[in-house]
Amino acid sequence: PAPFLTLRDLRVQFPTDDGVVKAVDGLSLALPRGRTLGIVGESGSGKSVTGLAVLGLHDPRSTRISGSILLDGQELTTAPEPALEKLRGARMAMVFQDSLTALSPYYTVGRQIAEPFRKHTGASRRDARLRAVEMLGKVGIPNPARRVDDYPHQFSGGMRQRAMIAMALVCDPELLIADEPTTALDVTVQAQILDLLGDLQRQTGSAIVLITHDLGVVAGTVDDLLVMYAGRAVEYGPVGDVLGAPRHPYTWGLLSSVPRLTSDVTKPLSPVPGAPPSLLDPPPGCPFHPRCAYTERVGGDRCRTERPELPEGRGAACHLGPERARALFGGARRTG
Ligand code: SF4
Ligand code: MG
Repeated sequence: PAPFLTLRDLRVQFPTDDGVVKAVDGLSLALPRGRTLGIVGESGSGKSVTGLAVLGLHDPRSTRISGSILLDGQELTTAPEPALEKLRGARMAMVFQDSLTALSPYYTVGRQIAEPFRKHTGASRRDARLRAVEMLGKVGIPNPARRVDDYPHQFSGGMRQRAMIAMALVCDPELLIADEPTTALDVTVQAQILDLLGDLQRQTGSAIVLITHDLGVVAGTVDDLLVMYAGRAVEYGPVGDVLGAPRHPYTWGLLSSVPRLTSDVTKPLSPVPGAPPSLLDPPPGCPFHPRCAYTERVGGDRCRTERPELPEGRGAACHLGPERARALFGGARRTG
């Protein structure tokens, strides 16, 4: 079947006084219905920017977007705002890390869940309220008929996160983008929220993109995994394959850092010595080469001058190639 979401050579750039920030630099991917794609990478790797671009949530005055974003065959990069508004909340929705900024303090939780439902279905106020109660129950809020009239500050952090998921899912979107949906939560609530997303997917067959910096989160949750570095995809494949036999030194570095990560889930990811490159002026050749411990394996010059491309399907954007990668990283233990 044709993928539900297709990105082709997506570029997202922010012109600044110092030059053009290339936040996403040529990203291609395809996601069918009923599947979950994990996108991992350090902060600033372009994960969130990609999610926002798909939803069309960037300020068009400060953002340049090129390439293609197809949702069920419809081109979104050139779609007018009213067309995007019809899709957002109805056919595609996003869950953010920070429920405090996503939920307004001035309206009841129930009203904020009911509002997109009314807008997209034309339901009556009464029916939309009933739907909000139903959704709160679905996401595991006890006593939903009573809690529906609470304000966000009356909810715990975990409950607010559930309420935000209820809001995103109220119209049964066919695409859900969840950006660090569990990062701020303790491990038990994290697991519950991830289970919940899985359940809802089994019920509705939606496509899910799960954005995270935590490989421990993706291991048991996603079907396919895309690793991003400096605005580019550096490795892609079925999650078990990528985690079990990584082909990119950066993925290998991420994996090696997992034990420390799972003991402190809120710690920002810094798996490999050194810092990500400037997106204003990325290094020539492989963008990872200043931090890579394997450049001499392929003759360092090639890494410094020739940009490795990500092949279609399972693969990595690295000059090592699959054979040498297997010899170096093939014994990686699986996580989760
Ligand atoms: Fe390292 Fe070279 Fe592979 Fe880049 S292409 S990840 S620098 S070995
Ligand atoms: Mg982010």
